[in-house]
Amino acid sequence: AKYIIDVIDEHPLVNQLQLQFWDWMIAYYLCNEGDVMSAALPAGLKLASETIIILREEISYDELAVTEKEAILIAALEKQKRLTVDQISALLGQKTVFPLIRSLLDKEIVHIAEEVVEKYKPLLKSYISLNPFYKEEDNFRQLFEVLERAPKQLDALLAYIKLSKSGGEISRQQLLEESNCGPGALKSLLDKEIFSLHKKAVSRLQDENDDLILNFKLSDAQSVALANIQTAFQSKDVVLLHGITASGKTQVYIKLIEEAIASGGQVLFLLPEIALTTQIVERIKRYFGDAIGVYHSKFNDNERVEIWNHVLSGKYRIVLGARSSVFLPFNALKLIVVDEEHESSYKQNEPAPRYQARDAAVYLAHLHQAKIVLGSATPSIESYYNALNDKYGLVSLNERFGGVELPLQQVVSISEETKRKKMVSYFSSVLIDDIAATLEKKEQVILFQNRRGYATILICKTCGFAPKCVNCDVSLTFHKSSGKLHCHYCGYHESSMNICPACGSVHIEQKGFGTERVEEELSLIFPDVKIARLDVDSTRTKNSLQKIIGDFQEKKTDILIGTQMVAKGLDFDNVTLIGVINADTLLNYPDFRAFERSYQLLAQVAGRAGRRDKQGKVCIQAYDDNHRIIKQVVENNYTEMYNDEIEERKQFHYPPFTRLIFINVKHKDSNLLNAASLHFASLLRAQLGSRVLGPEQPLVSRIRNYYIKQLIIKSDKSDAIQKVKAVIRQTITDFNGDKAYKGVIIQIDVDPY
Ligand code: ADP
Ligand code: ZN
Ligand code: ZN
Repeated sequence: AKYIIDVIDEHPLVNQLQLQFWDWMIAYYLCNEGDVMSAALPAGLKLASETIIILREEISYDELAVTEKEAILIAALEKQKRLTVDQISALLGQKTVFPLIRSLLDKEIVHIAEEVVEKYKPLLKSYISLNPFYKEEDNFRQLFEVLERAPKQLDALLAYIKLSKSGGEISRQQLLEESNCGPGALKSLLDKEIFSLHKKAVSRLQDENDDLILNFKLSDAQSVALANIQTAFQSKDVVLLHGITASGKTQVYIKLIEEAIASGGQVLFLLPEIALTTQIVERIKRYFGDAIGVYHSKFNDNERVEIWNHVLSGKYRIVLGARSSVFLPFNALKLIVVDEEHESSYKQNEPAPRYQARDAAVYLAHLHQAKIVLGSATPSIESYYNALNDKYGLVSLNERFGGVELPLQQVVSISEETKRKKMVSYFSSVLIDDIAATLEKKEQVILFQNRRGYATILICKTCGFAPKCVNCDVSLTFHKSSGKLHCHYCGYHESSMNICPACGSVHIEQKGFGTERVEEELSLIFPDVKIARLDVDSTRTKNSLQKIIGDFQEKKTDILIGTQMVAKGLDFDNVTLIGVINADTLLNYPDFRAFERSYQLLAQVAGRAGRRDKQGKVCIQAYDDNHRIIKQVVENNYTEMYNDEIEERKQFHYPPFTRLIFINVKHKDSNLLNAASLHFASLLRAQLGSRVLGPEQPLVSRIRNYYIKQLIIKSDKSDAIQKVKAVIRQTITDFNGDKAYKGVIIQIDVDPY
């Protein structure tokens, strides 16, 4: 027996259902309790050493009753301003300091240092109005006389009158843009009380009409889909909503959510990437107001802890979140929505637990006896297979909201255009004409190229040398903005190659191209057009993503060039042209899901065109212009794509007909790794026989100085998968006990992507 020194939490932070969920995850994904716990709990709840507390300035804590230890802490904070948990621990000579910190937080003596995530704070926009006094005709005439000697102010007034004719409120920015008056002249008008200014919170991205958001009505097709989902729920727990792009799936979800919370339940709404789906988040947030929490791993600790606690306390009835929100402390889930269920970002590849949040959500729903909707315009082969085999309900929504037609799609053969000398850089004459015509109409363009950087590789024309990463077995990509060669696996970079280090030649060729290059080439063709780029590189700094999307939304930019980031759920009303620069790079990817993914990406990116009242156009450039996937995208024929894919999966024994488990064996010494992986494979093979394939060298055989060998376990659907998993777990334990292979890392990926 030991004395109790401190009680950390008076109530458990993790409930019984969560523990059951964790257990499932440990068993299913062959990982450890520790892996799941660190993925599940915000670091703040784990008392991270980096948590910092700061004394509140506005509080006179002298008058508050504090304990002796609290007083010590306050005194220390007065001197040092900020203290980390580790420092507090050292200061007080005790390990458990969280109850103490919490007590100070409760008494509002300290607060936790926080970086507020700007993008979720409402944006305040300034609006201008004319003093009602001047609305009377006589006064107005006088005003003109007064302002005659202040031409800029007069101009502002004229602009105001002009703008007010079109109705609605006039924002400060609009007025400044519309007139020659600068901020100074405007200030004079405000000082003279001719104009007044008021601020209003608006959505960061869209000035949508609130009324439309709050009082929308489902279209007939949407109502039918809703009713069909409800009917399907009577006999099934999972329903796949297959609704084409811009069919208005979100509005159908909103009705389902409303119903679930009306009956007293909680709702989890999963989105693949919160940052890219701010538009949907805003729409749903405005509809449901305060009952909504938004959660994703990019939030800082305090925000995550806060959301965790609000879910626990019941303040948040609805959570919109990325994959990690499956771990929140729900106790009465009624409904889960998985939007864009086909998205590969639902899969966590690194670190363990390597879970697929969509699949985990299906289990989570089952635990809570909740219903779950998986929604997509391009469902994953697995989900569609489950739906066709009656495991899931299937509901379709086949028309776009508002009767907008799907975009016209045209395929352009790059080889043909090259032969006819009609390519200008990477652009066919067809695409260039389309871009020009779209800009002429004051409409916008999105161009898709699924590679970032400038040149994929640099290669010496004389000796063939191509610079590689020092840590990984990959070629370096040239980025013009940094002037450097970058490794996309480990972040290593070095200065660019002007002279070949192997032979001294200056003839360096650039092969392959990324978004940066497309942007540069396009700006040569359209020098006066405003072009923006959306990829991992252009969105590294805080808020840059929101700015790029916001500027495009507000039509400050005309063309947006991007990687697959532009394919994900963006909803712009003025985009009528989509150009795919090179579809072949997608199709040639060596993976059994490459065709499925190409279809999904192309169909999704095409779906960004003409979403409101104008029909859009899509121009797909490809060398392999007769590829069946491109044809299926153009014909919007998901069924045919599915049938072809499922046939191949069956023939070559891939999911959903088999289960795959990848086992990566890693070590810094390649000889030791070879021996270790062979030995490990033989141990497995002794029990699992021909289910074990490899070891083989993966596509990238060294990352961050670790050499990698890969084993693949292919197990039949008829296999008792639990037994196979138990064997794997036991074999790893045995292998780890072998001193000869000390330091060898084994990583398991169940249902890999
Ligand atoms: P999806 O997710 O199926 O691609 P969205 O839900 O984004 O489609 O809907 C497409 C557009 O149509 C959005 O701008 C949305 O606001 C609008 N919309 C959809 N349904 C309705 C409705 N019932 N009333 C008003 N607007 C709607
Ligand atoms: Zn050379
Ligand atoms: Zn590297």
